[in-house]
Amino acid sequence: MRIGVLAETDPAETRVAATPETVKKFLGLGADVSVEHGAGAKAGFPDAEYQSAGAQLVSAEEALSADLVLKVRRPSGGEIPRLRSDAIVIATMDPYEHREAIETMAKAGVAAFAMELLPRITRAQSMDVLSSQANLAGYRAAEYGRALPMMMTPAGTVTAAKLFVMGVGVAGLQAIATGRRLGAVVTATDVRPATKEQVESLGAKFVAVEDEEFKQAETAGGYAKEMSDAYKAKQADLIASHIAKQDIVVTTALIPGRPAPRLVTADMVKSMRAGSVIVDLAVERGGNCELSRPGELVFSDNGVRIVGYSNVTRIPSSASALYARNLYAFAETLIDKENKSLAVNWDDELVKATCLTRGGAIVHPNFMPQ
Ligand code: NAD
Repeated sequence: MRIGVLAETDPAETRVAATPETVKKFLGLGADVSVEHGAGAKAGFPDAEYQSAGAQLVSAEEALSADLVLKVRRPSGGEIPRLRSDAIVIATMDPYEHREAIETMAKAGVAAFAMELLPRITRAQSMDVLSSQANLAGYRAAEYGRALPMMMTPAGTVTAAKLFVMGVGVAGLQAIATGRRLGAVVTATDVRPATKEQVESLGAKFVAVEDEEFKQAETAGGYAKEMSDAYKAKQADLIASHIAKQDIVVTTALIPGRPAPRLVTADMVKSMRAGSVIVDLAVERGGNCELSRPGELVFSDNGVRIVGYSNVTRIPSSASALYARNLYAFAETLIDKENKSLAVNWDDELVKATCLTRGGAIVHPNFMPQ
């Protein structure tokens, strides 16, 4: 059983899917590990560390021909034809936005697993890439170019920054906690009623339209629902007046399988003071702010900075360490420790929830052709 670890082909991606720590663990399970030259370079894991952990340093070609291929992002169109037709590939696949890429993987015969589709159950917690990466994103997002707390100095008083967090999931909670720790005045909004108490327990103020629809906005799985147009209009009115007074806005609002809800319009950006910052963590799913662009820093006409680059890729070492552990925890369940070989239990609920393609077809119910 050979495991291949690729260097990411997306130039904006700085993370790596396995670290020297997880390489050692895979070797402990009886696998051989082939790491592409330079795979961990951007994340602060040089080739020499993989080598001393026991990995073979190889070409991309060789890493792609492994039995089990580990990646951060979905394999590119150039990589898919170079995979073995019976290979298992594990990555964050971003499947909702990229159905044609799933079809290509299906045609190549590979078994492709999407880490972000793992159910949020206790057994899968150690594999939860959404949480591990969102936690770091929320932490990094609150760092901005000025002091956050109120300071009284002989030279005068600096007022505390006002931080508004939109979307209180894993990333939002971390952004609130970090903002509070740094001394900002923090408010937050969400459409799920359960978040109100969480926001208040972190010492922040909750701001939302709390009508009947709000009381029903949480799915059984703990996620948000798409809200009605009427609710969105009421929400927009409330946010419009609040946002004009904020120094930093961190948006993290997502709905599984849907584009990110548009919460901050160009007019709202116009109402903000010059020097304010919007960090749009939902940018890769279309963005919560009308003006944000993936991978870019946008300056609005009135001097508001809108940050659209991925925050986890700016702390690639910590992000990779956690991502690699999530991947190991999942991959380990696909390996028979006695025979030291791949042995996937296709009836396992985690396998069923994440497997997109297998045996030449799309097998995941959410992505099967109608
Ligand atoms: P997410 O990334 O899907 O969304 C982020 C937040 O955006 C959510 O809180 C959502 O309610 C909010 N949102 C959506 N539409 C909005 C709108 N129009 N306006 C304002 N906010 C909006 O969420 P997440 O971080 O994955 O967390 C979702 C839930 O899952 C949370 O309750 C979290 O605690 C829970 N969770 C459970 C586990 C587990 O049990 N293993 C792990 C992680 C998270």
